[in-house]
Amino acid sequence: MKLDSVFRYLDDHKDRLTDELVQFLRIPSISAHPDRDADVAAALDYDKRKLESLGFKTEVWPTRAHAGLFAERIENPDLPTVLIYGHVDVQPVDPIELWESPPFEPRIADGKIWARGADDNKGQHYAQIAGVEAALQGGGGLPVNVKFIIESDEEYDGEAMAAEFPKHGKALACDAIVVSDSSMPDLDHPALTTYLRGIQAFEITITGAAGDKHSGEWGGMLYEPVDVLRYVLQSLKDFKTGKVLIPGFYDDVMVPTTEERSAMSNAPWDDAARAREIGVTRLFHEEGYTPRESGVIRPTLQANGILAGYTGPGFKTVIGNTAKAKISMRLVHNQNPERIAALFEQRVRELVGDMGTVTFQRFGAGLPFQADLQNPFVQAGLKALEAGFSKPAVVMGMGGSIPIVAPLVRSTGAPCVLMGFGLPGDNLHAPNEHFALDCFLGGARAAAAYLYEVGARAGVPSNR
Ligand SMILES: [Zn+2]
Repeated sequence: MKLDSVFRYLDDHKDRLTDELVQFLRIPSISAHPDRDADVAAALDYDKRKLESLGFKTEVWPTRAHAGLFAERIENPDLPTVLIYGHVDVQPVDPIELWESPPFEPRIADGKIWARGADDNKGQHYAQIAGVEAALQGGGGLPVNVKFIIESDEEYDGEAMAAEFPKHGKALACDAIVVSDSSMPDLDHPALTTYLRGIQAFEITITGAAGDKHSGEWGGMLYEPVDVLRYVLQSLKDFKTGKVLIPGFYDDVMVPTTEERSAMSNAPWDDAARAREIGVTRLFHEEGYTPRESGVIRPTLQANGILAGYTGPGFKTVIGNTAKAKISMRLVHNQNPERIAALFEQRVRELVGDMGTVTFQRFGAGLPFQADLQNPFVQAGLKALEAGFSKPAVVMGMGGSIPIVAPLVRSTGAPCVLMGFGLPGDNLHAPNEHFALDCFLGGARAAAAYLYEVGARAGVPSNR
């Protein structure tokens, strides 16, 4: 079987491939820092040269922020095409004093590689490249066509790359998208991420009198912005049941099937341990759902910040004339952020009525994602993870989002396979980020296996 020789190739070359990742991690490609622009470009160029050495044709697509890299290797137009996504830019390193070793001087210790970007996303992304190299060199040729779309804006301007997609619809055409920018519960449970929540965020400002008023002179005869905001917030979500009270909010919510819910509960999870880990007595949950389901497959609403009245030192007997709240809603399939935004504004206006005036500032919106577990390209992902990590794969959801997923799906119409190789506790975006070498090699094996799974399903004999 070809896959055996591909895996043997990865074993024989693991030190050199790890060293290539180390060199990649030395490049301080912090996209948020303008003085690092040359490093961001160097990181993209590192990938460009690597993929060219593997026979890929490459193109650099400038974006409004930095640039993206497109690469393709078309073996045969009749074969299926897999599009692999990754990003080469990293988060800033502050607070630098909390790093046990310099973030851009990668160190290998305890079976892990320690550096900024080790997991997010250079390590996960380079596992994909290593997998493609192994399929090509160790398997004697790619069983499918492979394209890469590699971003250098992800940590800085998550919409910059996607804004270029409409110009490149033809280049992006593919049968399946693979994204490795998430995690698995532990090394014994390789996981396919099948749910991501979407988001719609707002800042609302409630204004009362023309200016702040003395609370001795006016207290008791004004609708106070703080009270109106309290009333609005308590009317938007039931504190006890966790239900969002905006009329129409749940209209388009797709409730996963019993099979999907039980498949998800196979991934390891312990409510009490998670509560302890973050220092709370117990986890909250929406009525009718477990805490994990409430945090992954159910929509919700949070007041992320509240600002009103006098909050300085000492005391001031004042009725502040404005009260602000930053409110975000996490959305699930099939909720549409546009429609949710309209329902939200309408409900808040009704609640405020003539007790004050309300203005809205709308922030980021993102579409939710749900994989179709019946889709053969998604099934191939589960098989590939099992082959790569030699353990049965589980499915899991993430309460957050990966912004590039929805535009990639929209631009290609292809199913998206989220094979995450990171582990919880890898310290993404934080000091002492690291990535287990077993995740890197298992990820590379899974990445190669995915190409073979897709090839086999398309009727390509495995001895091709
Ligand atoms: Zn990140």
